[in-house]
Amino acid sequence: MTVPEVDRAAGSRAAIAARRARAAIKKAVSEGRRSATGVLERATTHPESLEAGMRVTELLQGIPGLGKIRIERVIERLSISPSKRLGGLGALQRDRLGAYLAKRAPFSGDESGACLVVLAGPTAVGKGTVSTWIRENVPGVLLSVSATTRAPRPGEVDGVSYYFVDDAEFDRMIEAGEFLEWAVVHNSSRYGTPRAPIDKALAEGRSVLLEIDIQGARQVRATMPEARLVFLLPPSWGELVRRLTGRGTETEEEQARRLSTAEVELAAQSEFDYLIVNNDVETAARDVVSLMQ
Ligand code: 5GP
Repeated sequence: MTVPEVDRAAGSRAAIAARRARAAIKKAVSEGRRSATGVLERATTHPESLEAGMRVTELLQGIPGLGKIRIERVIERLSISPSKRLGGLGALQRDRLGAYLAKRAPFSGDESGACLVVLAGPTAVGKGTVSTWIRENVPGVLLSVSATTRAPRPGEVDGVSYYFVDDAEFDRMIEAGEFLEWAVVHNSSRYGTPRAPIDKALAEGRSVLLEIDIQGARQVRATMPEARLVFLLPPSWGELVRRLTGRGTETEEEQARRLSTAEVELAAQSEFDYLIVNNDVETAARDVVSLMQ
């Protein structure tokens, strides 16, 4: 069977992105921002994660003071093949590697367990409702408030729903490096995530939830590879159309534009660490919260 050209291109782009993200995890370990044992643990508990796709040698390269020759000796002593990935280790190999890492690379940093979760998904899938449930029921989590150049909808409150800013202010924020990420969404308005409140919350050991579009999620993955990327799915395409048209807050032209964006957005689900189907708001929200622990 031949692989269609488009799939092949998308596949190789995804492979490059995953390689870059794994390199960033290695860097985080070498700079003391993540523990090697934490990376191994995540690879074990999350077989679909980037960590699970890392080679053992790649993780060891992140440990200061371990050169090529020593790494070869270590993995030989641990009876692990050089090509082995963290997610593919047997239980005994994992235990031996874990014990080695705990001794060789004790973690002195602050790994409080706080994490950044990005909630993305097609338009009208219910990201807003899921994040509102979390804001109202899980007090420790910071729900990031984005800045946007779009006009407020009825009932939206400045500083709560969004920071509603004009183009000049948005330009200034970009210029000043105030955004963790920003994007033009639905070919119309600009949306961006202010970085400072996120850094502060994580430093205080609070988890953070970003509800942003897919372009934004990709940017976060590139700058903070330890972020957990969640893709919220509708129960079906028909249900998504019903939710979008039923909202009644957009013009017909705007609805058509959002539906075509949604189609493209759905195709991006394979880039995400977790897929959660939004059958029921509370269940989906609890699933998202469970990723923060
Ligand atoms: P709405 O205009 O319906 O509030 O949001 C439109 C889209 O913009 C949603 O998909 C939402 O997730 C996304 N969005 C909201 N804030 C941000 C942000 O800060 N950055 C990015 N990239 N997208 C955002």
